[in-house]
Amino acid sequence: MTPNTKKQISGLNIDPTLPLMIFDADEVLVHFAEPFSNYLKKHNHRLHLTGYRLDNAIKKSETDDVADPETAKDLVWGFINEETKNQPAAKGAPEALKKLQEYAQIIILSNVPHSVHDDRVLNLKSIGMDYPLISNEGMKGPAVKEILKDHKAESFFIDDNPYQVESVYNDNQDTVCVHFSVCDLVKPYMPKAVGASIEPTSWDDLVSKLIDRLKG
Ligand SMILES: [Mg+2]
Repeated sequence: MTPNTKKQISGLNIDPTLPLMIFDADEVLVHFAEPFSNYLKKHNHRLHLTGYRLDNAIKKSETDDVADPETAKDLVWGFINEETKNQPAAKGAPEALKKLQEYAQIIILSNVPHSVHDDRVLNLKSIGMDYPLISNEGMKGPAVKEILKDHKAESFFIDDNPYQVESVYNDNQDTVCVHFSVCDLVKPYMPKAVGASIEPTSWDDLVSKLIDRLKG
């Protein structure tokens, strides 16, 4: 956890006696692969996913060769800097969060660079998801542990990245970990998430399973 993330967490206003849900953003609340693929097309490249990771997934449109690491890095940063503020909402996500907010406090923990923290906030606000946002780097387990250090009520963590789910599970045994993705492009390659006790198939399914768990 970076000092920047720790500082953002210390500024959160959370009631420790009420349930808390911590959501990831990319491929949970907003789409990433789909707009990134469109961005690559505009820049004469294409997204060719053959696994869960982006490594080697960016190819040159003309020759179909894998983009060299420098070019791939520039394209990823170009997208982050230009398009973080424009990412489309996952269908059903804004309505689902509104419903869940009747039962729990909601915050967003996103591995977006600190430099575009405000772009992500503006983006989420513009598509109906105005919730506190913490930007993080690396594994999320330590950040979630910091968020929950004085928390007494139930907590939930929802992410599409199986390694983030595992990290949070390892550091926070009492947190209910949920593995959920809205990305159809990645689903065929998605590894199982160690520690996930809920694996919803849709936003409706997620809402009903989380509310059931809270009531149970
Ligand atoms: Mg994600």
